[in-house]
Amino acid sequence: MTEVPRTLEVEDLNVVFKGRRGLPTVHAVRDVSFHIGKGETLGLVGESGSGKSTTARGLMRLVEPASGSVRLNGRDLTRMSRGELRRARRDIQMVFQDPYSSLNPSRVIGLSIGEPLEVHEDLTASDRNERVRELLRKVKLSPDFYERYPYEFSGGQRQRIAIARAIAVNPSLVVCDEAVSALDVSTQNEIINLLEDLREELGTSYLFIAHDLAVVRHISNRIAVMYLGRLLEEGPAERVFTQPAHPYTQALLAAVPSPDPSQRLVDRAALFTGELPDPSDPPSGCPFRTRCRHVMEVCAQSMPEATPVDGGGAVRCHLQSSGPALAGRSLVDLGESTVNLEPGH
Ligand code: SF4
Repeated sequence: MTEVPRTLEVEDLNVVFKGRRGLPTVHAVRDVSFHIGKGETLGLVGESGSGKSTTARGLMRLVEPASGSVRLNGRDLTRMSRGELRRARRDIQMVFQDPYSSLNPSRVIGLSIGEPLEVHEDLTASDRNERVRELLRKVKLSPDFYERYPYEFSGGQRQRIAIARAIAVNPSLVVCDEAVSALDVSTQNEIINLLEDLREELGTSYLFIAHDLAVVRHISNRIAVMYLGRLLEEGPAERVFTQPAHPYTQALLAAVPSPDPSQRLVDRAALFTGELPDPSDPPSGCPFRTRCRHVMEVCAQSMPEATPVDGGGAVRCHLQSSGPALAGRSLVDLGESTVNLEPGH
């Protein structure tokens, strides 16, 4: 099988926010590694506070990583001067949850979409104007909307405008940070379909960040699951959904609502309890141990090594690396019985 060329390769990325004025130091991203092939989508999931957005900001050097490397089309962003980085950033664009943060409310949307073209491409005003109209067509909006203001659009339309702006300079990678989280389900589907069409047409790669696993399922080729700054599981989307290997991934899947309980991928008893621990004072060993129903003594002593999983990808859990005869196989695959976490059990 020929391997897809890699658009992005992140290796051992660490981001540390140093404590100031009495605030504690937070190691927000720890030893995170992943890659995204050309025209592929990596879904990065985890609860709010797990370090997903900080990973995205770190790889773009919007926050300076403490260590690690980030190669975009083979060039290491962490070794670039400020000037080189500014030019390289043309190749990574972002779409945020709230398009108001990137669209100037007092500018007509045509001018906002054209901004990256103004910065990165030497075009006449009329060529730029024509390109913006083309971009509006690409995101399935009327070119006549050029002269309108952001407040005149619905949330879904504003997200289409933000996408038009993001793809204006044909980037290799678009980072979608909770880009559909604020939309209703049918608008979410429309935006995801649009992103898929654009990926097909332009060969763009996506890093698709969401707290909801259900949202990333259809768009992602691979899924990476983060918790307290660590990647706990990574693998092909189909494998992660049908045979989640990490107790945390199982718990996230169990939380996905399903109209038909018999169709639920993982039993609700896999749900965890309690809150995300304080990121400035994470548990020793496995970061998930304070909420894990399988916790063992060894879990407090050391962080599990990444272990390959049948079906592709890897998981960090002592049950998989040194547990009783699991040897990298999914707990679901093994038909493991579930434990009731309701009070009184
Ligand atoms: Fe649970 Fe231990 Fe695996 Fe962590 S390492 S997920 S605490 S079993």
